[in-house]
Amino acid sequence: MIARKAKALARSRRGIAPPALKSSVVIVTAGPTVEDIDPVRFLSNRSTGRMGVALAAVAAKRGARVILIHGPLQVPLPRGIPALLTRSAREMYRSVMRLADHADVAILCAAVADFAPARKAPRKLKKGGRAELVLRLVRTPDILAALGARKRKPLLVGFAAETDDVARHAKDKLARKNCDMICANPVLEKGSGFAGRTNRVTIYRRDGNTRKLPLLGKTAVAGRILDEVEDLLSRKNRRRRP
Ligand code: C5P
Repeated sequence: MIARKAKALARSRRGIAPPALKSSVVIVTAGPTVEDIDPVRFLSNRSTGRMGVALAAVAAKRGARVILIHGPLQVPLPRGIPALLTRSAREMYRSVMRLADHADVAILCAAVADFAPARKAPRKLKKGGRAELVLRLVRTPDILAALGARKRKPLLVGFAAETDDVARHAKDKLARKNCDMICANPVLEKGSGFAGRTNRVTIYRRDGNTRKLPLLGKTAVAGRILDEVEDLLSRKNRRRRP
């Protein structure tokens, strides 16, 4: 249903250079992923989805056609935005890949698990007489890197939640995952990162521009990130015009 909607949107706009965000198709990922160990246990993380939901809501307010692809959220879904609930990293990967062809912008804000159990046990794991249990984990697909490797890729925004050496890790991610922008936040700093209502973000652009934002509410941070997206989109559109 959502794929059909996105296709129709892309078709109706073919040949017309979109004026920045207005009527652009924007995919936003938000929240955590959940990796099942057995029918009752899982591996996940502390992401609430607040930052991604704020990005989706502000982009929609600016006239973008937003599709939100999200794990289980601890905040309400924004009204009037088509949303797709996914669970594991693999599931989120498949949904993003299915819709990415029709997107002008992809903002990947979800806290995606890097590793998942090699297999989900069909029944609850029992303690038995064991003193320890070893779980074998395997790498999950990297959604951001996969989009960055595409020939025709949307304008790509990634996030970097870091505990140390934030600038170096962010710039490394920008190059390695081939994205247009990385929004980095020091998760150990007070008021920044998971769960809270505020965030301290520095935006690193592929063109070398860096924007260090003060501590702001997540809706305000979303607005500043989308200002940069609009700037990059309008440069891209200007280059396309004959
Ligand atoms: O490498 P790291 O996980 O720190 O990269 C963070 C960025 O990559 C975020 O934008 C996140 O949404 C994205 N990511 C992804 N797929 C993964 C891991 C991270 O899209 N498997």
